[in-house]
Amino acid sequence: MLNAKKYKFWFCTGSQDLYGDECLAHVAEHSHIIVDELNKSGKLPFELVWKPTLLTNEMIRRTFNEANQDEECAGVITWMHTFSPAKSWILGLQEYRKPLCHLHTQFNREIPYDTIDMDFMNENQSAHGGREYGHIVSRMGIERKVVVGHWEDEDVIASLASWMRTAVGVAESSHIRVMRVADNMRNVAVTDGDKVEAQIKFGWEVDAYPVNEIVDAVNAVSKADTDALVEEYYSKYTILLEGRDEKEFREHVAVQAQIELGFERFLQEKNYQAIVTHFGDLGGLKQLPGLAIQRLMEKGYGFGAEGDWKTAAMVRLMKIMAEGTPNAKGTTFFEDYTYNLIHGKEGILQSHMLEVCPTIADGEIFIKEQPLSMGDREDPARLVFTAKEGKGVATSLIDLGDRFRLIINDVDVKKPEKDMPKLPVAKAFWTPQPDLRTGAAAWIYAGGAHHTAFSYDLTAEQMGDWAACMGIEAVYIDKDTTIRNFRNELRWNEAYYKFR
Ligand code: MN
Repeated sequence: MLNAKKYKFWFCTGSQDLYGDECLAHVAEHSHIIVDELNKSGKLPFELVWKPTLLTNEMIRRTFNEANQDEECAGVITWMHTFSPAKSWILGLQEYRKPLCHLHTQFNREIPYDTIDMDFMNENQSAHGGREYGHIVSRMGIERKVVVGHWEDEDVIASLASWMRTAVGVAESSHIRVMRVADNMRNVAVTDGDKVEAQIKFGWEVDAYPVNEIVDAVNAVSKADTDALVEEYYSKYTILLEGRDEKEFREHVAVQAQIELGFERFLQEKNYQAIVTHFGDLGGLKQLPGLAIQRLMEKGYGFGAEGDWKTAAMVRLMKIMAEGTPNAKGTTFFEDYTYNLIHGKEGILQSHMLEVCPTIADGEIFIKEQPLSMGDREDPARLVFTAKEGKGVATSLIDLGDRFRLIINDVDVKKPEKDMPKLPVAKAFWTPQPDLRTGAAAWIYAGGAHHTAFSYDLTAEQMGDWAACMGIEAVYIDKDTTIRNFRNELRWNEAYYKFR
């Protein structure tokens, strides 16, 4: 379902004709080699496309406009091989609308001490040309990623690969459409916000549908289709009857199977990639969508509970950005529930009423049924599991009234110290960096929500770069965070966004 396009990135090399055709032939040869080798490395998630060396105002402007027009192009990587006078880049940069990366590298790794002469220096002057180019991009206030180092270095290639995912997030953001089934939960502030501004800033379309319209789509799913999906569940997951009647249990599971198929068909027909539900507004649904929503998240849909459309869009966005990550560990919607405050074992139990994505599961996945402590429906079937261990990034997008802020927290997901046999929901246990006391305090000072979009497969840098491309504020809570500096950063950001 993820369906992200086969994106490509253009590799554009800057130079000028000051040093003659022989020099330009070397420039083209060098950039060809770099593009070929980077493609061959197998480390980039998307293909690089070589473009002829950019020499003049007209060429640069034309190339950037072609990049704008090309639906497959998710961004341009620029490299100043020699000296490329930056006034030539002004019009092209002004008209360019996609993510931009400045790879500040040079063809040769080492200074050729024994043979270097003036011709060599003139031809290989990235240190000079990259500064001239960087100046105009900064002067024009254009957001871009600067990656420095030799193009064969593992960490340089990794930075390019990482940035490519951010760029795809930027490209795909404007294709995210969120279906709201019912409104936000009454009286809850942080999950709400300005949907018009979200569309202006991120391109997200957020539309409401009457719950019973989607209920009709659920009821239209045939018994045969439902039964086939129930069989799939029973073969894929472990059934935990826990004394419940086998036949009744299966009927309850079938309700979720029918919801999964009905919701999916409705979302596909109307072209939505994320959905929000509300336990208090279920119309003719027999159960709160639990297992059904978990399965939709696994297929790549974004989700937010209680009407939380911002988190739903973020989950979808992060799933797209992480798509195809080798050995991916998963991306999900989560909620901060309860703390462990034992010294040395501090952490937050992450869960939700039901809706956690099984991509993050470590090991066996069970189907359970239990009463919900809220609402007035049947006991819903849900997938229950424990999350993998490892580093991840938790994000919360909030609306401060005059701007959006993305809060990004590095977290360490750990195995819970003991089993929780009576907990009937999927869970993770994590400690926010730099530690629980600082991490939770910073999160609260920043106004972060109780809902998060979480991924093991993305980094704070990628999420912050996405926010920068969107023109919104981002704050990082990580190993370097101190409360004194963090509070100052929030104050300074306040002034910056007020007077910008
Ligand atoms: Mn919630």
